[in-house]
Order: sequence, then structure tokens, then C-alpha cells
Amino acid sequence: MNKSSRLPGFYKLSLEARVAVVAELAGLTADEKTILMGEGLSPAQANQMIENVVGIHALPLGIAVNFLINGQDYLIPMAIEEPSVVAGASFAARLVRDGGGFTTSSDEPVMIGQIQVVDVADPWAARFELLAQKSRLLQLADQTDPLIASLGGGARDLTVRVVEDSPSTSPSSCSGGTSGHRTVGPMVVVHLLFDCRDAMGANTVNTACEALAPEVENITGGRVVLRIISNLADRRLARAKCAIQTDVLGLEPFTGQTVSTRIVEAYALAANDPYRAATHNKGIMNGIDAVAVATGQDWRAVEAGAHAYAARRGRYTSLSHWSVDADGNLVGTLELPLAVGIVGGASRVHPTAKVALKIVGVKTAQELAEVMAAVGLAQNLAALRALATEGIQRGHMKLHARQLAIAAGATANMVELIAGRLVAEQEIRLDRAQELVQKLSTLGEGLSTEPILSSSKGPSRLGQRPSANDF
Ligand code: NAD
Repeated sequence: MNKSSRLPGFYKLSLEARVAVVAELAGLTADEKTILMGEGLSPAQANQMIENVVGIHALPLGIAVNFLINGQDYLIPMAIEEPSVVAGASFAARLVRDGGGFTTSSDEPVMIGQIQVVDVADPWAARFELLAQKSRLLQLADQTDPLIASLGGGARDLTVRVVEDSPSTSPSSCSGGTSGHRTVGPMVVVHLLFDCRDAMGANTVNTACEALAPEVENITGGRVVLRIISNLADRRLARAKCAIQTDVLGLEPFTGQTVSTRIVEAYALAANDPYRAATHNKGIMNGIDAVAVATGQDWRAVEAGAHAYAARRGRYTSLSHWSVDADGNLVGTLELPLAVGIVGGASRVHPTAKVALKIVGVKTAQELAEVMAAVGLAQNLAALRALATEGIQRGHMKLHARQLAIAAGATANMVELIAGRLVAEQEIRLDRAQELVQKLSTLGEGLSTEPILSSSKGPSRLGQRPSANDF
């Protein structure tokens, strides 16, 4: 994007005004604006995508602002139901922006396909023979997707492992007995490394593995069982880094220096304790998943890859690292597998995903992965800053109060009033929201009587400010 993503007051605009700003910055057409306003995936399109379709399940789409990555501005589309995530990412991106923004890098988009071979008489000899015929096998794999090969992608390498151990398949050993002990036996596991260019690549790699399987059986004399991509995409890592001047981190009554120290202390627990690491990484994935969903990625693949990578050394740990550099800046880094695409899958089928990809404005899958890594790091910073100081509930509950108001049956004009009252009373509970809805309904004057949950235009009215303020 040529213009700045620093958009002060963006959150205060009406929903329609926000769409107009984003449309202007991202060059959206009138049709694309209509898609954002609810005319996205049709039931007929959905019916082509999966089985047994009975409807459409929608999510809010927000835009995180302020992102400066490798000197370039980005608007970040995020589809998520959880309050605070978009605000947290935007806020952290502003702190990072003051220190020069995020820097990112990534590996080539190489995925791993696995071919499992059992019943091999001599696994080590089979491994030797497979490696001897590597170039022929790679050529065969390349022929399965000439388009990707013509774009500079395709089969890159082939590695072979012998997995000596396999679990017992005998019921008696499961219950502690030793008689009749049987296992699957040693296995030969072929890894096909395939550069998928701008595709996530699962279909492409699965096709290549299936094509190689008969040849692998011929060479090994064994029997192929699985031919499938691995979601531990550790050849396709994306990285993000940020350095934040401590003075911008302050949060009353904490100085920036104290906040920086406490963030490093909080990180230290995530680095050493899986109970904390799981939640720490969940915070990172709040940002990454939201971009993944918005842009039509296979977010289950992204999730699986991230958590498997976090456990790669045998103990589950933090995906990010936080420390203080020689100049006293707080420095964060994040590295994780990000198998994402800008072609294939839902990214080019789902109308809203297509618009989201246009908004983020990336040219390659690698660029998208790097943007997502930066968003994950921003989300991590926002969560750590809140957790290590005032706790997340204060900010979170303000937004949660609006959801409670809606759940309690608030009409469009009541939502802000009731949410504000719940926060002021520090009684952010559904039963209190219901009481207030009842009380306001009896006052009634000037308020819409249409509950927001049953309004077909519900989401577009959430941005409206209350017209009454006297209760
Ligand atoms: P795909 O098959 O829809 O698209 C990839 C194809 O796009 C390539 O084969 C290529 O021919 C073409 N293409 C055009 N321009 C390209 C470019 N610039 N770069 C690369 N390819 C280009 O999708 P895919 O990415 O192979 O597979 C993703 C889908 O597979 C997702 O929907 C995912 O949910 C699904 N899937 C995932 C798993 C898993 O993760 N375990 C398993 C099976 C299927």
C-alpha cells in the first residue's frame, strides 16, 4: 500500500465510513464494498464448497491498522469473534511503528510430503536405493504439476528415513502382557520436498506423493501406506522481529522500563512451562488465525504446524522470544511454519477472502506469511503488555460488555448504553444486562425496538453511537 496505515481515530468511525476509508486505500470496487457489507459467500457458492450445506456461518471482519513491515504499510484483515484482538494488534503495531516497524523474513515455500513404506525386507538397503534414484524420482514429481514447475517451483529434494520403532499392535501388550507381541515393524519414510510457490500446496504435494508411490514400491519392494503432506512445515518458516523503545510502553502506574522488564519476565515462564506456553502461543495465534480465516487459508493446517513446531525439541515452548538489547529496547522475535497461499484452496473461491487478500495487498504467499508472522508478534506484545500490568480483563471486559448487552436482547440503540453501564458498575454479567434491557425497554422513548440479534442489518448498526445517555 502506498499510503500510510496509521489511521488515528479509525475505530471511532461508523462502519460505513470505515468501509469507505479501506475501499479508498485498497482500491476496492463498488462490488467489493458490497461483499464486505454482507453480500459475500452465497448459499449456492457454499453448496459447491463442502457437503450437506444448510447455510452460511458469518464472522465479523475487522481491519488492524498501523502495521509497518519492512518499511511498507499494510492494512490487516482479521476475521474473528473475540473482542480485543483487532484493537490489540492495532495498538501494538503503533508501538512497534514508533521504533521503525517490523522486519520479517521467510523460507522458500517448500512443503514436505510423506510416503510411508512398510514390509520392507531390508530398510537400510531400500533407503540407499531410493537416494540413488533421487533425480529420477524428483523429475517424476515435477511432471505432476507443470504449472508450478514453470513458475520456478516443483520438487526440490528427497530425503529418506528408517523408522525402526513402531508401537505394539498386540492387545496383550497394551494390557501389560508380553505374549504374542507384534508391531508394524520398521518403516521407510520418504520425504518429498516440494516448492509450492504461491499455493499452500496440500493438494499439489499429495498428488505428487501419490504419483511417486508405485515407483517407491518398485524400488523398495515394500508396500506404501500413506502418501500425504506433513503439516509440520518446518521448511517453510516465517519470521518477524520488532524493537520497541521502552518509553512508549508505559501504562499507569507502570513506567515503560517496568513494563519492559515484566514482559521479559512473563515470557520467561512461557519459555519454560507448557501450561503458560499454550496460552502464550494461543495469543499469538489469535492474530495469525484471524488473518488466516479472513484470507481463506486452511487455518487448521496453520495451527497444527505452529504447535508441532513449538514442541519440536521434545518439550512444548513459546513460539516467540523477548529480551532487552544493548540500547535498552524491548526486542521480540517470532518464528513459525506458515503454509499459506494466495492461489488455490478457498483463497480464490470465497468472495470475502478475495477482497481480504486485495486489502492486505500481498503479491506472494511468502509475503502473506511474513505479514501474518508480524501480526502474531504484535498480538503477543499486546497480550503480554496487558497481562504483565493491569491484566487483560479491564480492556477485554469493556468489549465483552457489548456482547453481553446484545445477548441480553438489547436493541441497536441500547447496546452502548447498557455496555457503558455494566462497565461503570463493574457488574459485567448477563443477568445485570438483562435487567438493564428490561428497564430501558419500559422507558422506551427514542430507542429502536428491534433486538439487534434479530436485525438483518445487525452488524452494521453496532458502530452507531447511542443517542440517549440518561440512565
Ligand atoms: P489447489 O490445488 O487448489 O491449488 C494449487 C494449484 O494452483 C497448483 O497445483 C497450481 O497448478 C495452481 N497455481 C496457479 N498459480 C499458481 C502459483 N502462482 N503458485 C502455485 N500454484 C499455482 O490448492 P493447494 O494449495 O495445493 O492445496 C490447498 C488445499 O488443500 C486447501 O484447501 C487445504 O484445506 C487442502 N488440504 C489440506 C490438507 C492438509 O493440510 N493436511 C490435506 C488435504 C487437503
